[in-house]
Amino acid sequence: MAVKRVIHGVHVVPMGFANAFLIESDDGLTLIDAGYPGKEAVVFDAIRGLGRSPDQLKQVIFTHGHPDHIGSAAAVVRETGARTYMHPLDIPLAQSGGPFRPLTPAPGLSRRLMCKLLYHPDEQMEPIAIDRTLNDGEILRVAGGIEVIHTPGHCAGQVALLWRPGRMLFAGDVCMNIMGLGDPVGFESLEEGRASQRKLASLSFDAAGFGHGDPIARDALTRFRNKYGTSPEDVDRRRPAA
Ligand SMILES: [Zn+2]
Ligand SMILES: [Zn+2]
Repeated sequence: MAVKRVIHGVHVVPMGFANAFLIESDDGLTLIDAGYPGKEAVVFDAIRGLGRSPDQLKQVIFTHGHPDHIGSAAAVVRETGARTYMHPLDIPLAQSGGPFRPLTPAPGLSRRLMCKLLYHPDEQMEPIAIDRTLNDGEILRVAGGIEVIHTPGHCAGQVALLWRPGRMLFAGDVCMNIMGLGDPVGFESLEEGRASQRKLASLSFDAAGFGHGDPIARDALTRFRNKYGTSPEDVDRRRPAA
């Protein structure tokens, strides 16, 4: 399975209808999210495709604890011994492997359909132990520096991750990039989700990766500002009625 380079040092690892990302740095490899179950071979192939070996994977950092982001984590960690990082509010999801918290579909017909098709709170994933908590505002001393931004709404323990050396934002499911920037399939709290979208538009970055949809290699901030850089009322008014 070919991995696709996004920017220097970052490759997208296709995990079905979800993305994981590999960051290469002097201190080893970092995996952002771990896709659906049964995708560990895709991760290992991606690592070998970069001329590395699975034991060079040092950490798996989760944007949040949903099934499509933790599914292959246990298998990846078994093989690599990588340390796992997650926000405390989602750790119970990872450590139990489910059930997951219910979502209200995001506004619009397409999101309602996708939510029904793709999000199943009663799914059971293989539980994954978390070694270290992620806290809002901290800068992880791995991969040259990764800033943690708490972005609840879609999922209470969701974080966005800003990889400083490459100025790349990993947005998780704050938004998707499928036919343009748009909502995730659903929210635990729409209001918090909107606030998190605006929070990302206020940061400084060049590239962006998403849990779902295509990464953006350059000038990603302009797209975030165009979509989310105004009041929530304006954003909702621009959205076509469902
Ligand atoms: Zn999610
Ligand atoms: Zn997702």
